[in-house]
Amino acid sequence: MWIRRRAIHLAVAAAAIVLLATGCESIERMNEDRGRVGLGTELLGTPTATATARLAAAPGSLVEGRVSFAQFDAIVVVRANFFGLAPNREYGLHVHEKGDCSGAAGEGPGGHFNPGGTAHGQPGKPPHHAGDMPNVRTDGEGSVTYMFDTKAFSITVGPTGVLGRSIIISRDRDDYRTQPDGNSGAPLACGFIRAEGGAFGVPVK
Ligand SMILES: [Zn+2]
Repeated sequence: MWIRRRAIHLAVAAAAIVLLATGCESIERMNEDRGRVGLGTELLGTPTATATARLAAAPGSLVEGRVSFAQFDAIVVVRANFFGLAPNREYGLHVHEKGDCSGAAGEGPGGHFNPGGTAHGQPGKPPHHAGDMPNVRTDGEGSVTYMFDTKAFSITVGPTGVLGRSIIISRDRDDYRTQPDGNSGAPLACGFIRAEGGAFGVPVK
């Protein structure tokens, strides 16, 4: 298992380097590459499950984006692309409990996805919510290269699954400390997480 885990780390790192070297054209091409992980597929093969969220701008925001999820054994590789962000800034990104992007902040989507009932924190450094993800960082042109792998959730329907839930990019960076949301501010864009190629799915309420 550790060999596969290492392969995933290598694939994510290598793909990130390629993205940095080749720029937006490759990011867009990879994002069109449904259900695959770009360069990672050479090492990892075909994912056992994939999911996508298309993030629509919240009221007063012009930010839009797309987040994709690909499952390899117990590990999920997350990639994201956004439009309309300011350059050289960080933004919070979290999976939320409910599959409802309507309403004011926190009312429709609920809190951060937290099946373990733990405190908010930094991904990779327990305790943290399953839905806590690393901050999105933009470059000098406002572009994003985002790749992250996690075992904190799976691409399933159920208590630890993200299908039917929502994902939100927030106005401010997550400080990974402040409870319950890292002081990451109001939503900029929100999307429903659905199985790729499948039915729309049943929102978690
Ligand atoms: Zn959290």
